[in-house]
Amino acid sequence: MEPYLSRLAALRAQMATRGLDAALLAPTDHMRYLVGWAESGHERLLALVVTADAARIVAPALNAADASSNARSMSSVIPWTDADGWAAAMAQALGDGADGCVGIDDELHAGHLLRMQELFPQARFRSASGAMSALRTVKGADELDLLERSAEITDDVCDLALRSLREGMTELELQEVIAAAYRERSVSMTFCIVGFGPNSAMPHHATDQTRLRRGDVVIVDIGCGLQGYQSDITRTVAFGRPDPEAVEVYRIVRRAHEAVYGACRPGAAACDLDRAARRVIEEAGYGPRFFHRLGHGIGLSGHEHPYITEGNSEPLAAGNCFSNEPGVYLDGRFGVRIENCMVVTEQGGRSLNRNAPPALPIL
Ligand code: ZN
Ligand code: ZN
Repeated sequence: MEPYLSRLAALRAQMATRGLDAALLAPTDHMRYLVGWAESGHERLLALVVTADAARIVAPALNAADASSNARSMSSVIPWTDADGWAAAMAQALGDGADGCVGIDDELHAGHLLRMQELFPQARFRSASGAMSALRTVKGADELDLLERSAEITDDVCDLALRSLREGMTELELQEVIAAAYRERSVSMTFCIVGFGPNSAMPHHATDQTRLRRGDVVIVDIGCGLQGYQSDITRTVAFGRPDPEAVEVYRIVRRAHEAVYGACRPGAAACDLDRAARRVIEEAGYGPRFFHRLGHGIGLSGHEHPYITEGNSEPLAAGNCFSNEPGVYLDGRFGVRIENCMVVTEQGGRSLNRNAPPALPIL
């Protein structure tokens, strides 16, 4: 039952602090974190409802057996049928919470929340995000171990991908090399961005049929899930002799990336880490070309709290894990991004990935 029972207890403590009588989690990573299982009901409502004295899964009859055999630490499954709908099942799960304050998963279908508002006019609905983030942002030892192993697999796959670059290959062909390498390691690729040449200047480029040419800057941004725990790395290399400015931009982005480790300690504000990297890039004259946040939390979700962004003054705590991914993008020419994931320790920031090369690798 561990760690799920203690996670539920921690959620109840958060609910008490925040005045929530119930918390309603959709089949998202929040549910997976609390009961070790989540399966989409698609358009049908499937939810974990936590109150002070029970944790129940309201599930379509189709999913009820799966929920009963796979979910941990919950009290019961309340099935509902297409003929009857879910109103009575939800009323039973909420109990007295239906007249109180209900924390709602940010990713619950809007249609389901609108229906909840009709069914339970006495209830007040709030976001459950704060309560769940308070639990999930500080990683336990088992979680950290999985994140480190996930990062190590992605380091290896990224190295292999960069060694596989061949003139004329397409971005999609490289993506297939990466997907196959993950499969060989018995994990699944959760995302893959490959950008050749000018495509590297688009941070969220959709990998396509572009062919690799001599002199291209190449960005590879990939990750996998190991027992649900995500990894995320970006490496930038040159295939043959690149635009000389790319060598200089890499040096600046690498220094910005490095500055974050120095600024990272428990109690530091998230925005101070963003600032530490942004300052290096601004002072080098490329400030407007770094047009995204420094990073995002990582765990069961690829993007989660804490977000390392200007304006987030939330203090960091030991056990927080997030990406450190400064980038500079010159439209139509090239982009450089360097991304490692890191953990806050009492001694400062520690990378989960191997260090990025100090200078732009020219392959
Ligand atoms: Zn990434
Ligand atoms: Zn990332």
